[in-house]
Amino acid sequence: MTPAKKSAAVSKNPKDYCITTIGSHSALQILKGARDEGVPNLAICKRGTERVYKSFGVADEILLIDDWSEWETKVEPELIKRNAIIIPHGSFISYLGHERVQKMQSMYYGTKEILEWESNRTMERQWLLSANILMPRVFEKPEDIDCPVIVKFHGAGGGFGYFVVRSAEQFYEVKNRKYPDENDFNIQEYIIGVPLYIHYFYSPITGELEIMSFDKRYESNADSIGRIKAEDQLAAKIHTSYTIVGNIPLVVRESMLPEFFEMGDRVIKASRTLHNTKTGERLKKGLFGSFCLETIVTRKLQTFVFEISARIVAGTNPFIEGSPYTALKYTVPMSTGRRIARDIQQAIKQGRLEEILG
Ligand code: AMP
Repeated sequence: MTPAKKSAAVSKNPKDYCITTIGSHSALQILKGARDEGVPNLAICKRGTERVYKSFGVADEILLIDDWSEWETKVEPELIKRNAIIIPHGSFISYLGHERVQKMQSMYYGTKEILEWESNRTMERQWLLSANILMPRVFEKPEDIDCPVIVKFHGAGGGFGYFVVRSAEQFYEVKNRKYPDENDFNIQEYIIGVPLYIHYFYSPITGELEIMSFDKRYESNADSIGRIKAEDQLAAKIHTSYTIVGNIPLVVRESMLPEFFEMGDRVIKASRTLHNTKTGERLKKGLFGSFCLETIVTRKLQTFVFEISARIVAGTNPFIEGSPYTALKYTVPMSTGRRIARDIQQAIKQGRLEEILG
């Protein structure tokens, strides 16, 4: 046991802890959520980004660093000293990498091993298919393409460089012209429908799965191409990119909610059958906390999941004051950041912190 975990098991007072994350992504709602739930917070900011957290007044304290390489030497000892519990978000994982996250000694909300399943397309697919989730077909090689496909390069930052083609010939034409040196790609059936991001929360403390909210993304240039007529798009040789700029809140047809709850249940259940790839040990706690199924819904109302995010997504950011769904369930404005803080706060008070640490 790390020193932090030892003392965590002792105190049942939320004030003896601190909720922390890196200043980016969804940190504003995480920090505010901690404060609203009576848990002190700490923002870890790369020098030059702290203005945001000062200006909005959500950080109790700010720890400034010059480089992420200082994490182990400067940040971790500080976190352990403060009994800090880390909330991972998308930028947290992309700045530090899941290998480094696995080695962290500080308290961490969530199951760390899940990150590997989420970040590896093959493992992610195995997990979701075992949960009986509908997914776009994947083509092993360009010669197999027999419908419109979206080609994603591994590690393509925020959907930049994806392209859509409908034959092997077109595939090689675009790839050889624009990405001659890229060989790590994934060819997925292009699903024609509307994107929908389902934000879930599962608490091991209450044993309940909640739907927190929904969003769709505002992507450049995919969301603006329709403003130009097709022949001008062709003339200007515009290629679609999916660089995320922001998130737009949504509510869905109420009749779709039962299916969405069931999808979430199945993904959680299947996550408990996954294993640690190094030790082979089963991930008994499985997936918990905040997660998101990234879907495309077709005109026949089939919901295809093209990705899972096993942590808080930035699509929850429009709901700092809660969503139409959390307004039904809670008497206070409940953001996903606050919901996480509440889980931690309840776990501390009930002496069950170990159940939510990975
Ligand atoms: P991603 O980087 O995987 O989150 O995808 C970026 C964007 O590409 C998403 O917002 C979707 O609009 C679109 N997209 C990804 N996969 C598919 C797919 N299989 N079919 C249709 N659109 C997709």
